[in-house]
Amino acid sequence: MAYDAVIIGAGPSGLAAATRLAHFGKKVCLLEAHSKLGGLNSWHQVAGREISTGLHAFTNYSADGRGGALGKLLRQLRIKFRDLELYPQNRSSIRFPHCSLQFDNNPETLRLQVAERFPSQIDGFDRLRRRILETDEGEITSRRTSAREALSANITDPFLMDMLFCPVMFYGNPGGVGDGLDSERDAPDMDWLLFCVVWKCIFESGMSSPLSGMRTLWEALAGRFLADGGELLLSSRVRRLVVEGGRIVGVRLADGREIVGEAVFSSAGRCETMELSELGADGRAAPAPGEISIVEGVAVLDKPSVSIGMRDTAVFFSFSDRFAFRRPDTLVERRSGVVLAMDNYLVPEPSRRQILKMSQLANYPLWKKLDRASYREAKTASALGMAADLAALGVRLRDGRERPGKFGLFDDFFTPLTIERFTSHAEGALYGSPAKSRSGETRFPNLFLIGTDQGFHGIVGAMLSGVAMVNRHLLAK
Ligand SMILES: Cc1cc2nc3c(=O)[nH]c(=O)nc-3n(C[C@H](O)[C@H](O)[C@H](O)COP(=O)(O)OP(=O)(O)OC[C@H]3O[C@@H](n4cnc5c(N)ncnc54)[C@H](O)[C@@H]3O)c2cc1C
Repeated sequence: MAYDAVIIGAGPSGLAAATRLAHFGKKVCLLEAHSKLGGLNSWHQVAGREISTGLHAFTNYSADGRGGALGKLLRQLRIKFRDLELYPQNRSSIRFPHCSLQFDNNPETLRLQVAERFPSQIDGFDRLRRRILETDEGEITSRRTSAREALSANITDPFLMDMLFCPVMFYGNPGGVGDGLDSERDAPDMDWLLFCVVWKCIFESGMSSPLSGMRTLWEALAGRFLADGGELLLSSRVRRLVVEGGRIVGVRLADGREIVGEAVFSSAGRCETMELSELGADGRAAPAPGEISIVEGVAVLDKPSVSIGMRDTAVFFSFSDRFAFRRPDTLVERRSGVVLAMDNYLVPEPSRRQILKMSQLANYPLWKKLDRASYREAKTASALGMAADLAALGVRLRDGRERPGKFGLFDDFFTPLTIERFTSHAEGALYGSPAKSRSGETRFPNLFLIGTDQGFHGIVGAMLSGVAMVNRHLLAK
């Protein structure tokens, strides 16, 4: 049987694309290499608890789920806002050695903090925000413009610029260079449209957490997809795109089966998808994977985070006044990071969510070189480093735990190799390739990219990308 669409990957973008197409009566086959749904945002067991892998924040929050990117997504996928059971953050902060800025889901809070701590910058900050709000980040363009240039035109204090870049880069800069946007080592840059996407996600709307984790949403979407006649094949890795006469006619799975489809939508990533074509990597300067990857420690606490010194939901920190977001020359970059306390979302029964997560930038090639024993040792050593860095931020992890963890004071610790293994993203690239394909088009007329490498990421962004690409390339026709 020939499907109207074959979708590679049952992460946020693939699930959203599949649900939308099946709802409109299209015959769809959704293929996922792993045994679970959710892609980079799946779930796993840590110290006897099910946790949402990686999840820091469900962004784009609004109190009623109307308007903005979230409202659009809910309408397109017919999801009821109340079914998501989202609870907002209390407050978060950006902490640098000589200054801290707080923010929450009301953009006015950050504005007032900037006005108080950087009075000479507030007019420029207001201009910058206006420019961000006027920017249509969904614009289909291959042009990449510099976020640093746009910020420099409005913010003249380099310290404030670095503080504003810190959360945005941590939650969305793929790193690396490409398509003419040069990022200097000491002044890292990112694409302006991507900057606007992430700024709006965290500063203009806000951060929240789904009460029962991401699994509920993924299973609900998959259930709807199946009820609408869709076919979902888990543990089914696509090994090859089958090309005939310059078109994709189907995909070949690792077990040799072939699935025939009129169109293919891939969330595997830009260079990863081109690698699947029978022609191999795109000979015309295939974009390199993004350089940004992370290590993350997860600690299940026996006490509330607030009792060990972690009062905010998220802390974005830099121990140096100048913030350099780039692949480090060491296994882990200890000068900056993000800490997140899941029990500091305004949830009922926070005691059931006493989980602390900490991420720091990491160097994939260096982790890759380690043999088995050194890899394990490096994880434990990096986890010890993290606990020390937490202490420097005033968070006493040791006081929050009554038992040792598998990795020092942490129960789980993942590296760029873990991300690569579970997501197939080359080099564990957290935010995919720096060269996005905003139209979703590839050199094959019926192969389209969805998700991170189309240019919208994060959970909400990736889902919107899946919906937008199937609307544009299949349903509109
Ligand atoms: C540690 C971590 C923490 C994060 N935290 C947050 C957060 O708090 N909030 C937020 O909004 N975003 C977060 N993100 C980002 C978010 O997870 C991604 O933006 C989002 O998952 C991207 O969705 P996607 O559908 O594009 O791709 P993915 O989630 O990467 O899904 C792609 C899927 O395709 C499958 N696949 C790949 N190749 C093949 C193949 N050949 N055959 C079959 N299947 C294949 C993969 O197994 C995967 O399931 C985080 C990411 C990570 C890694």
